Amino acid sequence: MAKRDYYEILGVGKDADASEIKKAYRKMALKYHPDKNQGDTAAEEKFKEAAEAYEVLSDDNKKQRYDRFGHQGMGGAGAGGFGGGGMSMEDIFSQFGDVFGGHSNPFEQFFGGGAGGGRTSQRGSARRGSNLRIKVSLTLKEIAEGVEKKIKVNKQKSCDTCNGSGAENASSFSSCDMCRGSGYVRKVANTILGQMQTTSTCPKCNGEGQTISSKCKTCHGSGIQRGEEVISIHIPAGVEEGMQLSVSGKGNAGERGGHAGDLLIVIEEEPHEHLIRDGNNLIYELFVSFLDVSLGTKTDVPLIDGKAKIKLEPGTQSGKILRLKGKGLPPLNGLGKGDLLVNVNVWTPQNLSSEERDTLEKLKESENFKPNPRKGDKGFFDRMKEYFN
Ligand SMILES: [Zn+2]
Ligand SMILES: [Zn+2]
Repeated sequence: MAKRDYYEILGVGKDADASEIKKAYRKMALKYHPDKNQGDTAAEEKFKEAAEAYEVLSDDNKKQRYDRFGHQGMGGAGAGGFGGGGMSMEDIFSQFGDVFGGHSNPFEQFFGGGAGGGRTSQRGSARRGSNLRIKVSLTLKEIAEGVEKKIKVNKQKSCDTCNGSGAENASSFSSCDMCRGSGYVRKVANTILGQMQTTSTCPKCNGEGQTISSKCKTCHGSGIQRGEEVISIHIPAGVEEGMQLSVSGKGNAGERGGHAGDLLIVIEEEPHEHLIRDGNNLIYELFVSFLDVSLGTKTDVPLIDGKAKIKLEPGTQSGKILRLKGKGLPPLNGLGKGDLLVNVNVWTPQNLSSEERDTLEKLKESENFKPNPRKGDKGFFDRMKEYFN
């Protein structure tokens, strides 16, 4: 069968520009749209023919080839040239759905939903809601103990008026006339292997099997509305900054009764006034006077909950790390608590009176005040190596 000229099919001249071609295709596609021509196979052929012409003329490379060599230049199987009219309805809707864009056309629903992800949705479930991500800020105390949090979330909820159905009332539903309520359509496509029959989700009703004649006034047929919800979540002890917890089904509601997405909770740590977290360990920087470490002393160190008393022996060196076993954070898996590491820093006095200076000058001459590191005394890098190994 001889193929008609692509320009002729769309009813435009050879010099038509991209927007004229698009406009012409839109006109043809609406005229021969299967939704408007139920069971009319001639109209379906014209619909496919127009799509094939547009597929070539809207693509610069293909258009140039077609202009030079005609159908012969379009490759594909045999004399049929370009695919032999092989574009399925599915292809047409998914590739050219955007041509119908605007909100005034009667096929908005058809092309709007049918072209995109809607085709893969399950029958009756419409579209799944999107996931929501929120940050939750926790104190070290909350992380140490685990916590129940009530969080106010602004999200898409199921419409109260229509219970998420999108319909004004129960009689607003009617069986889909394209798939006769089955939610599926069968298509016959011509391929090089012959005719192939495929079944796919009905593009008109998105596989729901029914359409809504009168939409809910509150949500305009979407079945969802914006609102606040207070959600209680349990955060286990031991979580860390940047971790993400997922609460199934607490995200945005899906359109027309579709499954809700998940609520993703991203953990943020509030800095503690005195303690620094390192994994499950906690670090405390203790500053003591040179006199205290020379004479020995007892002092308090803060814990997440309360405080602990520690003893510094006479002669304790700056940089000594005292390890308080089990005073750190619990791990997420519940095995082995971390420690609190107390890093001893000797504070050097900065403003001395002349009297104080005199006293120290006298001490300076004593052999005992001259640095005399013994074998085994550790400097900063030795201690770091020890800590990280
Ligand atoms: Zn509603
Ligand atoms: Zn249908």
